[in-house]
Amino acid sequence: ADGVCLQIQVIPYAGERQLLLVRDVTQLERLETMRRDFVANVSHELKTPLTVVAGFIETLQDLHDSLSPEQVEHYLSLAHDQSIRMQHLIADLLTLSALETSGSSAETELVEVAPLLEAVRADSLALSSGRHEVTLEMDGPARILGVASELRSAFGNLASNAVRYTPEGGRISLRWQRRPDGAAFVVADTGIGIPPQHIPRLTERFYRVDRGRSRESGGTGLGLAIVKHVLTRHQGRLEVESEPGKGSTFTAYFPATRFPSALDETARAVA
Ligand code: ADP
Repeated sequence: ADGVCLQIQVIPYAGERQLLLVRDVTQLERLETMRRDFVANVSHELKTPLTVVAGFIETLQDLHDSLSPEQVEHYLSLAHDQSIRMQHLIADLLTLSALETSGSSAETELVEVAPLLEAVRADSLALSSGRHEVTLEMDGPARILGVASELRSAFGNLASNAVRYTPEGGRISLRWQRRPDGAAFVVADTGIGIPPQHIPRLTERFYRVDRGRSRESGGTGLGLAIVKHVLTRHQGRLEVESEPGKGSTFTAYFPATRFPSALDETARAVA
């Protein structure tokens, strides 16, 4: 009942008697269902662009004598877009899998926040190609204890989402702030916003509010899953506030333990 899954085994035991073995395998079953859903989702996400690419190549093969150079160029560019989409998906899958397998072994160091966030801003500006204003304010601790590549990927995903879900002319603000109990990276946009009922599910793999819009803007559906994973590994957490039609604010909080004081740093250096 209610999703509980029991495995029952009858084992012959001492003559006429039998042993009844009951195992609660609810958790195992749940994991197995999640794994199956994930494989089905990945297959589907790859199959769609691959079908398109194969279709365009066939068209080019069958009609290459009757197509104008412009038409050929058009089909090639569409096939190229789909290939890039598959590349992004595979890159995100590899990132997720690396996060899962590296456990606690990833290289933790004191990461300089300013250059990292400047690089994130530069990437956002490139993605926006002049269609948005992207500002960066630095007011938090200079260094965070963490894994540089993971933080870069999490902050980059939050910032690129802000660009991708904000119409032309919108504003995106990136802020690194000191908080009473640690620090936070805040990404605020003046974009399309998110209806409240979707907010609790945003970090699930492949969960999207609007599938078409996500695809059009080059989304894989894995960005926020990666963000959540990275934050959990840094004892952080994600908070989302949004108003449809007005914009969204994504806040990544990190606890004070991620910001050793100058005294601690000296002690580490001496040790
Ligand atoms: P995707 O690749 O689809 O963007 P994500 O995991 O990064 O996948 O985000 C999941 C969904 O959350 C998106 O499909 C989108 O619907 C919503 N979303 C994320 N960031 C924003 C934002 N800044 N504004 C509006 N919607 C957003």
